[in-house]
Amino acid sequence: MKCVIIGMGPAGIACAETLLQEDASVEVTIIASDKAPYSRCMLHYYLDGERSFDNLNFAPKGFFTDNNRLTVMPSKNVSEVDSVLKNVIFDDGTKVGYDKLLIATGAKPFVPPIEGLHDAKNRCVFRDIDDVDKIIENAKPNSKCVIVGAGVAALDAAYGLLEKGVDVSLIEMFPRISPLQLDDKAAYTYQKLFEEHGAKFYLGRRVISVDLDENSNATAVNTVFASAVSFDNNEKIPCDFLIVVAGVRPNFAFLKDSGIQTDKSILVKRNMQSSDIDVYAAGDCAGQSGIWPNAKNQGVVAAKNMLGCKEEYTDIYAMKNTMNFYGLTTLTIGNVNVDDTNCQSDVYEDRNLYYRYVIKDNKIVAVLLQGSIARMGIWLHIIKNNIDVSKIKKPLHKIRYSDFYKVDEKGAFEYAI
Ligand SMILES: Cc1cc2nc3c(=O)[nH]c(=O)nc-3n(C[C@H](O)[C@H](O)[C@H](O)COP(=O)(O)OP(=O)(O)OC[C@H]3O[C@@H](n4cnc5c(N)ncnc54)[C@H](O)[C@@H]3O)c2cc1C
Repeated sequence: MKCVIIGMGPAGIACAETLLQEDASVEVTIIASDKAPYSRCMLHYYLDGERSFDNLNFAPKGFFTDNNRLTVMPSKNVSEVDSVLKNVIFDDGTKVGYDKLLIATGAKPFVPPIEGLHDAKNRCVFRDIDDVDKIIENAKPNSKCVIVGAGVAALDAAYGLLEKGVDVSLIEMFPRISPLQLDDKAAYTYQKLFEEHGAKFYLGRRVISVDLDENSNATAVNTVFASAVSFDNNEKIPCDFLIVVAGVRPNFAFLKDSGIQTDKSILVKRNMQSSDIDVYAAGDCAGQSGIWPNAKNQGVVAAKNMLGCKEEYTDIYAMKNTMNFYGLTTLTIGNVNVDDTNCQSDVYEDRNLYYRYVIKDNKIVAVLLQGSIARMGIWLHIIKNNIDVSKIKKPLHKIRYSDFYKVDEKGAFEYAI
């Protein structure tokens, strides 16, 4: 059987690994516009010069070179999928046939429709290695960079630039940084750390236009309060270049005439199969989550189903996020900012730790652990298994794995709650 995978991110590579491991007769072809696999989560280390491009490669050692059933086609751009004749078609008109196809093409940065923003030649995004190369070209010491957005990826970019001595300003519509992953307190702790390293934040503000010079380079970004109806509270933030990190959209434009069903993402069933029985999708392009571990797990599930095993992707915890800046680590599982009057929060704080648990009907629905994420496994276990925490007679921050198991009369561990 000939399996073709478009994309060499975590979803594509995990799918290829699983196919080759589980079936000795399968032939796999990986196609990607990327020139080699690299971790997007580590782009900030490439930006600040801490890692070379080769050191971002996350594929298992020897994976591409030591496997005679694997064909790798890097730097190839897919422009179409012919699902009737089962061909993947490249922008130079050449094609590759498949029996089963996985689409794992990730996501594309979203650039909002703001006057001047699309035309600015010195406007960068932050998703692919070429984007970072363009940022590096602009990032001279003491140059001024405005970052539109202050989510996790924007903070990654800011971190890398601050390390290079760039003067960084971040603009965020929400009144706090990383608004989706953090609550006010956890966000403020990171904000202070970034400010200590030179960053400036413009929170609760939105960009209304970008000033361009005669060469179409942005020279300043105009902002107003996010809720403003008039533009008379304009604050102009000067820049030598700017980066837009304002979210991403699943990447599947090349499926336009394929007949494969899409909406805001490629539509898939729980086994990662698309509306075409021989075509699967996994990772960011399948729209169920935008994080690495989930992309990887979906790639594995897709591979098993491509081989005929029946397996479903069941990890519904799309909102699981870790971040680590300036030695401060934070984990968020679920929506800690949930707007539900039936939820209560339980908070634990000391000098180095801030833990917040969101509880509904005695079940934990979200957790934020800042300062130490050592107990991440316990909280995933509690949330996934819908455990009634009212039965645990100790403060939540003191819970250990041992609280969930007891030894039965034969000496085996068993679930105790
Ligand atoms: C700056 C940044 C920081 C991040 N930090 C974290 C983090 O800390 N934790 C976390 O969990 N996640 C993080 N993420 C998200 C994570 O990187 C993604 O969820 C993950 O990479 C998605 O994997 P994927 O396999 O779906 O797609 P991607 O990794 O995006 O790979 C897509 C692949 O498809 C190929 N491709 C796309 N279009 C075509 C085409 N037309 N033809 C041929 N090939 C094509 C590309 O070349 C690429 O190989 C971060 C992302 C960014 C950008």
